[in-house]
Amino acid sequence: MSRFLSQKFASIEPYVPGEQPQGRQYIKLNTNESPYPPAPGVIAAINSEEVAKLRLYSDPDARPLVAAIARRFGVGEDQVFVGNGSDEVLAFSFLAFGGEEKRFRFPALSYGFYPVFARLFGVKYEAVPLRADFTIDPADYIGCGTNVVLANPNAPTGLALGLDVIEEILRSNPDSVVVVDEAYVDFGGESAAKLLEKYDNLLVVQTFSKSRCLAGMRIGFALGSPDLIGDLQRMKFSFNPYNLDRLAILAGTAAMEDEAYLKSCTEKVCATRRRVTDRLREMGFEVLESKTNFVFAKKPGLPGTRLFAGLRERGILVRHWDDPLIVDYLRISIGSDAEMDTFLSAVREILEEDAK
Ligand SMILES: *Cc1c(COP(=O)(O)O)cnc(C)c1O
Repeated sequence: MSRFLSQKFASIEPYVPGEQPQGRQYIKLNTNESPYPPAPGVIAAINSEEVAKLRLYSDPDARPLVAAIARRFGVGEDQVFVGNGSDEVLAFSFLAFGGEEKRFRFPALSYGFYPVFARLFGVKYEAVPLRADFTIDPADYIGCGTNVVLANPNAPTGLALGLDVIEEILRSNPDSVVVVDEAYVDFGGESAAKLLEKYDNLLVVQTFSKSRCLAGMRIGFALGSPDLIGDLQRMKFSFNPYNLDRLAILAGTAAMEDEAYLKSCTEKVCATRRRVTDRLREMGFEVLESKTNFVFAKKPGLPGTRLFAGLRERGILVRHWDDPLIVDYLRISIGSDAEMDTFLSAVREILEEDAK
């Protein structure tokens, strides 16, 4: 830290992303990326002609992408905001709707970025513990009177709330913004997008990084009432009007228009998830019933750090946290069938080694 850093940022603990190794070839099951390539239309859309146009700024309104998203969800174009990853969309949401008086409430075990955004922007927040079984207690959010952000399905647990609960939270907090972060919704969750007509305090946030196989392109979006979307635009145009580059707009449009490809990728991931869950349970693991492209699991008696290190030695990266509540759990992204077979063999090997 230099002596020049503004005092107000001295105590911020930045978010720590999952490792992106650049040397050794690992099987990457640590950041919930897709094992499958982007839709064929994406690869076609990014050609040398488009690269040559990079001398020009991108469209600050990202029009074709916004139009494709609006069509897919049956909402007006004025109900769509696009950002440089949903991280940016979430950041703008904290910036726009949070403050000293305007608190945010979210689960203590959820996406690790929420408290970081809150601190960065000086937003007061309440991190509410989950129940012992890692479920969210709806009572903590119904009528709570603060802004709310919920990852649904939640990470790193993989568990989802039903839309009836989301609706009750929206209905009982009419003067607060309820942000539903649906990064994993395409893997078995139920989107709150269908509630947009009824609730002007709802902001649905989704990403192209997981189900649409475009983590490296950095595209996320929000759906909401024209007024809420206007507020996000106000943040963006006060910060970085060209937040999506030209190639991201093209890639995102092509990906959003290929519903069949989305479906084929998510179906494959869900089938692999079922198989991995069953195999891990057969080996004595406790595995939460996931609605995402990862599983959250532990084996009683086996320290999480031991399994994490054993997998790493065998060239497999998974996610592990030091938080005592989940120190024995691993979050394992669902890769291709071949990758998951290698993963399962490695787990078996580690268990056999320890049994000796
Ligand atoms: C991955 C993830 C995001 C961020 O996605 P990007 O669009 O890549 O920025 C947001 N929320 C949750 C819960 C996630 O897991």
